Parts: sequence; C-alpha cells; structure tokens
Amino acid sequence: MTTKIAKLIAASKNRSELGPWSRFGVVISRLALVAALTFSAFYLSLVSTTIPVDPEQRACLERAIDLLSEKGFESEVFVLRHAATFRGTDNWLNSLITEERAFAATNFPFEIVTVYPDFFDRTVDDTERAMILLHEAQHLMGKDDRFAYAYVWKNRERLGWTTMNYGTSATFVSVELQTRESSPELFSCTQKVWNDCTETLLRGDISNQPDNVLQ
Ligand SMILES: [Zn+2]
Repeated sequence: MTTKIAKLIAASKNRSELGPWSRFGVVISRLALVAALTFSAFYLSLVSTTIPVDPEQRACLERAIDLLSEKGFESEVFVLRHAATFRGTDNWLNSLITEERAFAATNFPFEIVTVYPDFFDRTVDDTERAMILLHEAQHLMGKDDRFAYAYVWKNRERLGWTTMNYGTSATFVSVELQTRESSPELFSCTQKVWNDCTETLLRGDISNQPDNVLQ
C-alpha cells in the first residue's frame, strides 16, 4: 500500500514538473480525444438511424463508380470507394432539413451518402447515376452545392453526359435548371448555343436536333 501511494505521489510530482509546452500537449491530446469520441458518436447515431443500400442498389452504385473511373475522375472515385458510406434511407439529420432531395444527399464531414429512389428510378442509365455521384463526391471533399453543380456541368462532356445524348432526359433538364440558378455566370456567353459557356454544340448542329432537345 505504501509503495502504491509513493508511486502516485511520484507520478503527480512528474506531472507538475512538465514544462508549459508538455502541459499544452497534454491538453491538446485530451481535446483531440474528446473531439474524436464526439465525432464517432455523432457518426454512429447518423448511421444507426438508417438502412444500408441493398445488394442490387450496391451493384448499381458500383457500376456508376466504375464508369467515373473509366473517365478518369480518380479523386472522386477514391472518396466514393474508400470514404463514403452509402445508405438507402434518410438519417435524423437529413430529416431535419426540409430542402427537397431528389437523387442523393451527402453529410460532410461524416461522409454518408444517402441515395433516394429517384437515383435508381428517375435516371435513364449508369452515366446519369455517375453524374449524380460526381456531384456528391464534391460534397464528400467538402465543396458546396454551387461548386458541385458547376463542376459537373463543366465536366459533363468528359463524362459522356452530353446535351446531344441526354438533353431531353428529366434528370438533365432538372440539373441544368439548378445549375443555371446556382451558377448563372456559366450561362452568360451570348455567342454560344443557349448562352452556355461550356456548350460545344455549334449553332449549326441544333438544326439537326429534334425540337424537344432545345430548352
Ligand atoms: Zn448537392
């Protein structure tokens, strides 16, 4: 017993002998531990209030991510494959936000991507689903909605999600409207088709398109 008390006294003496930088280090380590525990608890509460995507949905997501990989979006593929947790229903945090969520939603920095029925049903193919994941990957990397919409719009040709091939799809129309709203500067080029500064279609090409491609 005496030895134990002596050890405790020695330990307390050693602590009191720590220099200011060492004490600062101890405080920082404790704060980091508290932050990590709080983050983990918050993450678990978000994940535990949802259900995971089913195997069929998972396969669908994998195909879309493979497509992004084929097109060279490696940073996005990395976060989607190694950081993202995909869920099939809203967590409590998403439920608190009244904003309309058609295809998917991402909780940053928890890296949880919730995919809604429209992601699977309203899109016409894997390319459109890849486009949505390209958007969500920007959120996984901490970017806001404005950046995500503009990034996808600027990279849609690289992805193969072009006006020529997808201009009439409900998803294309909806994303274009939202991009025009959030990044009007991308649609200020009066010499370009539809004033779209990123559009590579020439005015002459439009006459070869069906009327309903035009917005
Ligand atoms: Zn978004």
